[in-house]
Amino acid sequence: MTILKEPQRTQVDEIKEITELSLLQSTQSVIKEALDLLGYSEATYELLKEPIRMLTVRIPVRMDDGNVNIFTGYRAQHNDAVGPTKGGVRFHPDVNENEVKALSLWMSLKCGIADLPYGGGKGGIICDPRTMSFGELERLSRGYVRAISQIVGPTKDIPAPDVFTNSQVMAWMMDEYSRIREFDSPGFITGKPIVLGGSLGRESATAKGVIICIEEAAKRNQLDLKGARVIIQGFGNAGSFLAKFLHDAGALIVGISDAYGALYDQAGLDIEYLLDKRDSFGTVTNLFKKTISNQELLISDCDILVPAAISNQITKENAHDIKAKVVVEAANGPTTLEATRILTERGIFLVPDVLASSGGVTVSYFEWVQNNQGYYWNEEEIDQKFRNMIVGSFEKVCTFSNQHQVDMRLAAYTVGVKRMAEASHFRGWV
Ligand code: GLU
Repeated sequence: MTILKEPQRTQVDEIKEITELSLLQSTQSVIKEALDLLGYSEATYELLKEPIRMLTVRIPVRMDDGNVNIFTGYRAQHNDAVGPTKGGVRFHPDVNENEVKALSLWMSLKCGIADLPYGGGKGGIICDPRTMSFGELERLSRGYVRAISQIVGPTKDIPAPDVFTNSQVMAWMMDEYSRIREFDSPGFITGKPIVLGGSLGRESATAKGVIICIEEAAKRNQLDLKGARVIIQGFGNAGSFLAKFLHDAGALIVGISDAYGALYDQAGLDIEYLLDKRDSFGTVTNLFKKTISNQELLISDCDILVPAAISNQITKENAHDIKAKVVVEAANGPTTLEATRILTERGIFLVPDVLASSGGVTVSYFEWVQNNQGYYWNEEEIDQKFRNMIVGSFEKVCTFSNQHQVDMRLAAYTVGVKRMAEASHFRGWV
């Protein structure tokens, strides 16, 4: 039997880690500003700047060729003063400790803004699911649950889908956890298939939350969504649902992209064709001869820009050239802090990630509540509750931004961190 060696770290890996560290640092710096604005002590910041718990695990997986590969995984729990921690698990080659930490902080902020009774959590495994078989993915998912089972559970920390994980992965993870605990435990994880206690509306929830934010932002900026020209960066789960909803709402999708390139057409793209042709990882531009780069797409002409791909896309280098009147962040951290300042100064209305992408965890909360009470809601009930919550969050953040004359990102962070700081204080931690 051969044990596969881990790939050597390259300079690129190191550079990636440095970028992610700065992502964590920039998140921390806005949390600091938010806590200062609320008048909290230095100790509160010291507590909230890092997860309270961070577990690193090694997961041996028998691959289809008979070799054993050892994968590294993480689970970060940011703060559990308000309730159990909550957040997705991503499967991606770029996963690293600092990224998982930063993402757990973001989850806390999302839960705070949406007023969900959770703190933030996040998990990840360094792997490339695009090159793995179904069986390998199942063994990896189950191995991860065995490795983290001591610190997770329906009243401790509740995982969910994230980048490159889906309802099937959640089903394997739930089954493994239920076997370990020796009782059926649907509330251990959300984003499950409907037959296993998943909630109606979970799969499209992130995109629907973004759509509601786009509608609200359009209203505030006197833009009619019908006929509005929209660019969506990314054509994965969120990006493709967004394209479909916006297209159905009468918007003109003038640009989309995947990891390899972008398509742009002033007259509007054939969204139905693109949705039909995309593969399960959202790749579609390989079918076209004439493409532009992701960077060119971001500065192309449009009314609404939706970065729905990866972080650090709108930076101080291109923020002056963005043409959109409204930017809605469907990805995590697509705009740097310098770029946020430039966009705000230019009068571009920005809906920050922690607000725009809170739809997924909101329906995850509905799923968990339904699992806990064993009583399931219909789609109408879910849609109604969902819309009220997202519109409520949006209004809270806008009102804070107007009242305190701060940009939308700082407003969202302040609304998001407030309850966690208060709960930590009442518990006597700081
Ligand atoms: N991974 C999603 C997020 O980042 C959803 C998390 C959840 O449903 O708990 O918001």
